[in-house]
Amino acid sequence: VSAWAKVPAGPPDPILGVTEKFKADKSPKKINLGVGAYRDGNGKPYVLPTVLKAEEIVFNAKLDKEYLPITGLASFTKLAAELAYGKDSKPLVEDRLAITQSISGTGALRIGTAFLARFYPGAKAIYLPAPTWGNHIPIAKDSGLEVKQYKYFNKETVGLDFEGMKADIKAAPEGSIIMLHACAHNPTGIDPTEAQWKELSEIVKEKKHFPFFDMAYQGFASGDILKDAFAVRYFVEQGHQLLLSQSFAKNMGLYGERVGAVSFVCADKEEKARVDSQLKIIVRPLYSNPPVHGARLVSTILSSPELYDEWLVEVKGMADRIIAMRSKLYDTLVRLDTPGEWGHIKSQIGMFSYTGLKPEQVDALAEKAHVYLTRDGRISMAGLNDSNVEYFAESVSKAVK
Ligand code: PLP
Repeated sequence: VSAWAKVPAGPPDPILGVTEKFKADKSPKKINLGVGAYRDGNGKPYVLPTVLKAEEIVFNAKLDKEYLPITGLASFTKLAAELAYGKDSKPLVEDRLAITQSISGTGALRIGTAFLARFYPGAKAIYLPAPTWGNHIPIAKDSGLEVKQYKYFNKETVGLDFEGMKADIKAAPEGSIIMLHACAHNPTGIDPTEAQWKELSEIVKEKKHFPFFDMAYQGFASGDILKDAFAVRYFVEQGHQLLLSQSFAKNMGLYGERVGAVSFVCADKEEKARVDSQLKIIVRPLYSNPPVHGARLVSTILSSPELYDEWLVEVKGMADRIIAMRSKLYDTLVRLDTPGEWGHIKSQIGMFSYTGLKPEQVDALAEKAHVYLTRDGRISMAGLNDSNVEYFAESVSKAVK
């Protein structure tokens, strides 16, 4: 008998499963709103012009393909940290930020949670928002952390359950690890306001909790890299010793290049060196060292004042196109007298929108209209464009009537 005769079949990935159904559909009208990757106004994947320029620069430099150090390309991690924290941020100026390159945001989260499981002095449990990005849960579990949740989403208002969130974070035992989405919360598209972040910082401080920020969408949410970094920078200013995961998948469109970083604010330089030594010990048996190409691209863009300025315009372009689609979708739903309140489509931010559509309505959209989304009613706004937004709104309108 085969060695794998007893291996049970696992469930399909809930997001990638949507894409499979979409691919099997032969209708020319079909729309895929499942996957979280940006699409241009024609529904096509988008390679940023600055990325194309950086590729040319890197190609012409005829660099070798030697291994990177375990923690990655030093010029990249330095620039990534500056982008997130700001050049004048105290942990950077005082040389007390430990950082390693990672296999995009997922790898950053995996290394961060593995480090917590090994060294966090408090309970080895992590509080995730309910709901959260589906992959957070297995990432934390595979690293050996227990998963707990705090309230985040209010079904009635299709908005933030701020009171519930505060109450749950307050009720968590002192010194708990709290995962926060830095901006563009996935899957809801609902973020705390700046005033609410300030309150959260107070609570986290009072309870001596440990904040772990996942920032997968800096710049992609509002179009402004500073605005999107508000929560992270505010928490750092307030003296929190945080952990930060970064990804360049969305804001530079480098999905398949797998470029990210995970960083630890440390007490001083000496502590940073110890943390850094342990990061190497975690990374080495996982994958030895990270891939070089994407890090070179990011580093080329962020280090050139010209390319950097062009990139800021490109990120804003992506964010603005999504914001425009939100307006258009909202306006069309209202014009069609679609039952319900749809204001949240416009107030939500980032790649996703939580529509409030029910699982049966999602199924009906797939069967009757060839429109595919996850059964939680989440749509990727990036999948909408001028050619399909009206058709999508009409289909939603029919599905809820
Ligand atoms: N964190 C959140 C909240 C995300 O939505 C994503 C991607 O969808 C990621 C992290 C990580 O993505 P990647 O590993 O492609 O950088």
